[in-house]
Amino acid sequence: MNEGILRLQGISKSYNPGAANAVMVLDGCEMTVKPGEIAALVAPSGAGKSTLLHIAGLLDTPDAGEVLLNGVSMTGKGDPERTVARRRDIGFIYQFHHLLPEFSAAENIILPQLANGAAARAAAERAAHLLETVGLSGRASHRPAELSGGEQQRVAFCRALANGPRLLLADEPTGNLDPGTSETVFAALLALVRETDMAALIATHNLDLARRMDRVLRLNGGRIEPA
Ligand code: ADP
Repeated sequence: MNEGILRLQGISKSYNPGAANAVMVLDGCEMTVKPGEIAALVAPSGAGKSTLLHIAGLLDTPDAGEVLLNGVSMTGKGDPERTVARRRDIGFIYQFHHLLPEFSAAENIILPQLANGAAARAAAERAAHLLETVGLSGRASHRPAELSGGEQQRVAFCRALANGPRLLLADEPTGNLDPGTSETVFAALLALVRETDMAALIATHNLDLARRMDRVLRLNGGRIEPA
């Protein structure tokens, strides 16, 4: 059965249900992302992209519906299982890098590997390889505050890929950068993803960036519009 790496079935999510300020953000959302595919998740700000990515990334739970990873439903799984699946199978990139300020670029990429059981030497070699791929070998020992915004975000990409996830989820990964830097950093992200056979779901409101991915999924009225 070809379930796809990520499948969302009938996902609904409201904030403050029943209250006067209730917001129905997702309303029976369906989507599948296949292995090796880079899909753009496109919608205007406030349409629910972050909500959808957090549910897909097991950082939040839906009110209804199923999240399937590699064909396995994560509904009803406890926190330990969700944490293991998240750490092993999913890389998450935020609009702001969220690097640990007291650690170097390399250490920020090494730490999640150690948490996942990697040996120290292998983790260091992988961090060095990932930094080289994004052109930052010369910044390995810099702390985040000693890096530019675009460099910080490239390190965050490396960290998201550190454990070789099968699925990368990115929430407006270049939304915080000026257009020129955004272009360089986005190209680095695509190169990193295409180096592997991982799947990626990348939220953006930038249609030029979206068109460079394999498929565009539009979120509208809480659902993915039919293509
Ligand atoms: P996007 O990522 O597309 O900008 P979000 O998923 O962040 O959209 O938000 C979708 C809608 O849900 C917005 O109207 C937002 O105000 C609302 N929302 C998001 N998070 C919360 C929350 N924790 N409590 C209440 N409303 C929220």
